[in-house]
Amino acid sequence: MSSIPDALATILDRIAQATARANRPAGSVSLVAVSKTNPAEAVVEALAAGQLLFGENRVQEAAGKFPALRGAYPGMRLHIIGGLQTNKAEDAVLIADVIESLDRPKLAQAIAAAMTRTGRRPNLLIQVNVGDEPQKAGVPRAEADAFLRLAREELGLPVTGLMCIPPVEGDPRPHFAWLAALAARHALPVLSMGMSGDFEAAIAEGATHVRVGSAIFGARDYG
Ligand SMILES: *Cc1c(COP(=O)(O)O)cnc(C)c1O
Repeated sequence: MSSIPDALATILDRIAQATARANRPAGSVSLVAVSKTNPAEAVVEALAAGQLLFGENRVQEAAGKFPALRGAYPGMRLHIIGGLQTNKAEDAVLIADVIESLDRPKLAQAIAAAMTRTGRRPNLLIQVNVGDEPQKAGVPRAEADAFLRLAREELGLPVTGLMCIPPVEGDPRPHFAWLAALAARHALPVLSMGMSGDFEAAIAEGATHVRVGSAIFGARDYG
């Protein structure tokens, strides 16, 4: 396993190449370094190498690592990318710069209420279950249009884009293309798709954010 700075440089280079191959402007794809299950020391190594954007899937774990680093790295940004219980909505609104995992009406209502209480309004992405897999989080594809309307128009939430995790089996590209089409139809600028194993395919289909964990920080035991 290479060091975190080396692995980061390799991923950034692969992102730049995939962006160029897709005839997209340089710098149009952001790397969300997914630091879940890794200690704060690993985050500090990445910060020292210049990486400022991180993703965590558990609010409590993020709360244990990130607030202490904000002073030294004011440019740091945190995306919450994991399934969110409604009773964690306020904690997420308080700590996140972006919440990528908005996926159901009850959570949308809890986030709206938390925003009113706290005065914080992190941007939101709607997670779509692009493979309509029963075990997976995300809005079912058939409900995505209606849910977008609820979140944006009825609740007035700051939804800026979409996120997905395609099925493990099979070609992810049709799923990425489907999500990109949905975003285009709703004029949503942000598309968070692609992980360690498939981020180049996601960039070819229009990803603006790729979420890469193990290829930077090494294999995880869980999560
Ligand atoms: C863990 C995780 C990732 C990163 O996965 P890797 O395969 O380690 O790159 C991306 N997105 C979400 C939602 C995750 O939970």
